[in-house]
Amino acid sequence: MTLDHVLVVGAGQMGGGIAQVVAASGRRVSLYDALPGATERGLATMRRSLEKLAEKGGADPDEVLARVETVDDLVAADLMIEAVVEDTDVKEDIFRRADSALPEEAILASNTSSIPIRTLAAATARPDRVIGMHFFNPVPVLQLVEIVRGHETSDETAEAITELARELGKTPAVANDFPGFVSNRILMPFINEAVWALHDGVAEAEAIDTIAKLGFAHPMGPLALADLIGLDTCVAIMEVLRDGLNDDRYAPCPLLRQYVGAGRLGRKSGQGFYSYEVERPTE
Ligand code: NAD
Repeated sequence: MTLDHVLVVGAGQMGGGIAQVVAASGRRVSLYDALPGATERGLATMRRSLEKLAEKGGADPDEVLARVETVDDLVAADLMIEAVVEDTDVKEDIFRRADSALPEEAILASNTSSIPIRTLAAATARPDRVIGMHFFNPVPVLQLVEIVRGHETSDETAEAITELARELGKTPAVANDFPGFVSNRILMPFINEAVWALHDGVAEAEAIDTIAKLGFAHPMGPLALADLIGLDTCVAIMEVLRDGLNDDRYAPCPLLRQYVGAGRLGRKSGQGFYSYEVERPTE
C-alpha cells in the first residue's frame, strides 16, 4: 500500500509536528485547519523546529517545507492523519467528511489521545481502514507511536500504519481500543494526582515536579508535562477515561478545570502551572 500523499487535519502543536515528520520522510503533505491563520502558524513553528534540527545535521528546512501545501478544505490523499481538538463531535464530523473527500481505499487515522477508534470508525463506511496513530509531543523528538486497532481495523491497515511509523523513524507499539489506550490510562491519573497534591497544599508546583524528576528519573515533572500537553486536552482526556471506564477516579481535579476555565491552558496560552513566553505569529 503506498502512502505517498498525506492529509494532516489540524495544524496545532501535534498536527504541525506530524506534518513535519511526514514531509521530512519525503512524502507530500496537505495541511488543513479550520481556524484562520492556524496553518500559517503551524508552518512557522515547523520552520523553527527544522532550523534547529538542521543545525544538528537535519534536512534542509526549505526542501522539507516545499513538500507541504496548505489547503482550505479536506482533499483527496492516500492517508488522513487527524489531529484536531480532543472532542468526539468535532472528530466524528471530520471522519464523516473525510469518508467522502478521500478515495475509498485511503486510510483514515486519528491522533486522538483517548477517544475510542470504533466511535470514529462508525462515522465512516470503511471501519476496516480506520486506525489510531497516536504520536507524542514534541513529535519531531519523541520516538513512540501508539497504534490503536479498532474492533474492525484490518490487518492490512494495521501493517501499513506500523510500517509507516517505522519509515518516519519512530517505534510503533500496538494497543487495543480502550479509552485512553495504554499511554493516557497510565499518564493521566499520574498528572491528576500531582494536581490534587498541589490543590491540597502538599507542596508547591516546583517541589512536586522536582520530586517526580529526581525521585522517579522522569525527564520532566507531571505539572510541567501537563502544561506541555495543554490543560484543556488533559481535562478532555480525563473525561473520556471517566465516562468510558465508568469510574470517577479518573475525574479531573477541580483545580485543573478552574485553570482551563480561566484560559490558563499551559504553554500554548502562555500560562498554566508555570508561565511561558508565547511566540506570537508575525503578521
Ligand atoms: P491544539 O489545540 O494545539 O490544536 C488543535 C487544532 O485543531 C487547532 O489548530 C484548531 O484550530 C484545529 N481544529 C479544531 N477544530 C477543527 C476542525 N473542525 N477542522 C480542522 N481543524 C480544527 O491541540 P493539540 O495539542 O495539537 O492536540 C490535537 C490532538 O492531538 C488531540 O486529539 C489531542 O488529544 C492529541 N494529542 C495531543 C498531545 C499533546 O501533548 N498535546 C499528544 C498526543 C496526542
